Amino acid sequence: MKKTLKITIVFLIVILLFQSRIYGRNNPYNIAQGGNTYYQTVINTKELAIPIFEKMRSYLYYNLGGISVSYPYVLDLVTPEYLDQMAPATYKGMEVGLYTFEKNYHHIYIINNLAVDQFLGTAAHEYAHAWQTENCPLNQNIVLKEGFADWVAYKVLQMDGAINASQNIFYRSDPVYGKGFKIILSIEDRGGIQAVLDYVKTTP
Ligand SMILES: [Zn+2]
Repeated sequence: MKKTLKITIVFLIVILLFQSRIYGRNNPYNIAQGGNTYYQTVINTKELAIPIFEKMRSYLYYNLGGISVSYPYVLDLVTPEYLDQMAPATYKGMEVGLYTFEKNYHHIYIINNLAVDQFLGTAAHEYAHAWQTENCPLNQNIVLKEGFADWVAYKVLQMDGAINASQNIFYRSDPVYGKGFKIILSIEDRGGIQAVLDYVKTTP
């Protein structure tokens, strides 16, 4: 009995050492390049992506009016080239995320190697589109659609303390995302989160 216990302990230590070597080799936060070690924080595996995605979902559910979806969702990390193949012509080379609804599944595609904050904002933006599919008029104006999705990303980034990333959304001035975001923000200023949700649920 004693002997078995000793063997078990040795075995566990070996596994731990082995695990830490694997971790060290694949650790995305510490990548050696050209003889230098530099630090980066990027999302390039499902293992890194899923906890951040789930954190985003709980922010929405508990702090943003109970936003959640009923249909199942699939999250995929893809290359920028793959995303370009699926993106509308106008957005080629610009998109970092994409949402589609196929065969009763929400599909969320996010390009790999995004910084953590950018991943969090993109995940929130695309998940907002999934929520719209279930709750908003299908023919909804693109300005409202993208403005709301950016507002959701903005709120999540603020909740997470990612102020710089949230400010990037705040200062967008393009005629779709930027304009739509400002419309939604002014509705929130007047009536709060619930007023925003009521508005996007009923306005085409
Ligand atoms: Zn969008």
